[in-house]
Amino acid sequence: MFIGHFAVGFASKRAAPRVSLAWLLTAPLLLDLLWPVFLLLGWEHVRIQPGFTAFTPLDLYHMPWSHSLVMSLVWSGVFAGAYYARSRHAGGAVVLFGGVFSHWVLDWITHAPDMALWPGGPKVGLGLWNSIAGTLAVEFAMSIAAVWVYLRVTRGTGPRAALALWSLIALLVILYVGSAFGPPPPDERTTAFFALSALLTPFWGAWIERNRSSVGGAGR
Ligand SMILES: [Zn+2]
Repeated sequence: MFIGHFAVGFASKRAAPRVSLAWLLTAPLLLDLLWPVFLLLGWEHVRIQPGFTAFTPLDLYHMPWSHSLVMSLVWSGVFAGAYYARSRHAGGAVVLFGGVFSHWVLDWITHAPDMALWPGGPKVGLGLWNSIAGTLAVEFAMSIAAVWVYLRVTRGTGPRAALALWSLIALLVILYVGSAFGPPPPDERTTAFFALSALLTPFWGAWIERNRSSVGGAGR
């Protein structure tokens, strides 16, 4: 899954209005931020196999450290713990824990059976990627609903409110449609470098956050 993870981040603003969008968007993306780093370190591997699933040519046969169920729970705890150590905001930390872990659940629904339960353990995956139309429908529906929720619980207060938000959404749609219908990446390294661009997410989230504020007072 790709833009569906961003959808979780935007929608979670409703559950945790005091938490910056930088944290809220990074949480559900965290496993995909670790993944290209682990690819470049040689700890995880991907094969480019056009037709592997209808939606993506990526055969994600080895990603035990970023994407196994057990490690996802570990990363959820680390991320939520880091937030709590900074903010002492327990409710926000709980929402961020759920945000990180939602990545595993959504990838489990989406991927071919390549999601290990633990490093070296059995692999599961329900294979939504076998249907291009199904994948697009689910991710666009999630994204539209999430942006709608986000617009209801925040309002623009800075001069760049619209630019910051809609430029990210436009870029995501272009990258998503491009990845669905564009040519496959040539190799593992290129895939990893391309995926590293997601590291911009926290900064973009912070930029959006600076130009918007939560509706409805102090929040939870
Ligand atoms: Zn993933």
